[in-house]
Amino acid sequence: MAVLLVTGGSRGIGAALVARAAAAGWDVCLTYRSDADAAEKVVAAAREQGVEARAVRADVAVEADVEAAFAAADAMGPLGGVVVNAGVVAPKSRVDAMSAARVGEMLAINVVGAVVTCREAVRRLSTAHGGPGGSIVIVSSAASRLGSPGEYVDYAASKAATDTLGLGLAKEVADEGVRVNVVRPGIIDTEIHATGGQPDRVARIGPMVPVGRAGTADEVAAAIAWLLSDEASYCTGSVLDVAGGR
Ligand code: NAP
Repeated sequence: MAVLLVTGGSRGIGAALVARAAAAGWDVCLTYRSDADAAEKVVAAAREQGVEARAVRADVAVEADVEAAFAAADAMGPLGGVVVNAGVVAPKSRVDAMSAARVGEMLAINVVGAVVTCREAVRRLSTAHGGPGGSIVIVSSAASRLGSPGEYVDYAASKAATDTLGLGLAKEVADEGVRVNVVRPGIIDTEIHATGGQPDRVARIGPMVPVGRAGTADEVAAAIAWLLSDEASYCTGSVLDVAGGR
């Protein structure tokens, strides 16, 4: 089967997706920024499914890193799919207290990184570039429509940018064999909340979600895996909320 590249595959939603993709027969190239041990554990679990897997250290905010990650995926075989998953939040802050440095770092990862990752994906997948076609899934956030007031409006705005990236790119490459879709998770139980300085966020907000709980990384991975698959062959430019009704 073809190769799937997953950015930010060392934990959370990306790691859950790698497990599902491996079980579905994808060879997987995953990227991570800092935690090599966690990435290698995800790789080992994928290999137990009988597929090829490897991890590449690559900061999506660094263009050359993204290019190197795609080159590593190329060495595994023909690319068939890309999941634009790597993303960060920042500590809780109102807009009137945000520094330009904070916002710039967030946009470099969540927006510039996403666009450059999509660029490399299209250069390989699009029939206009001699590619076989394929599927791109962008992991946005319900924050793009909620706005995250008092918490991280900059993050919400960065995710709104990825929604629009998905909508526009889907139309741009629709007749070149490439489907592009967006998944918007709600509050999901991963380490991202602790990295943003709110380790209690899931326990605090989960019960206020209409379904009464936070989601799991695997529940988001299931939606991504479906959009990647041929079962979703007529879906492109779709935005799928996986947010428990929030
Ligand atoms: P997570 O548990 O914090 O994992 C983030 C992953 O991205 C890790 O593999 C991390 O690698 C990697 N990463 C972080 N910064 C990176 C960078 N600059 N370059 C490359 N990789 C980087 O996050 P998650 O909760 O699974 O979130 C995944 C995606 O879902 C993000 O785009 C996030 O915005 C979105 N999302 C999450 C939630 C939620 O509630 N969890 C809700 C809505 C949307 P290292 O481990 O090496 O640092």
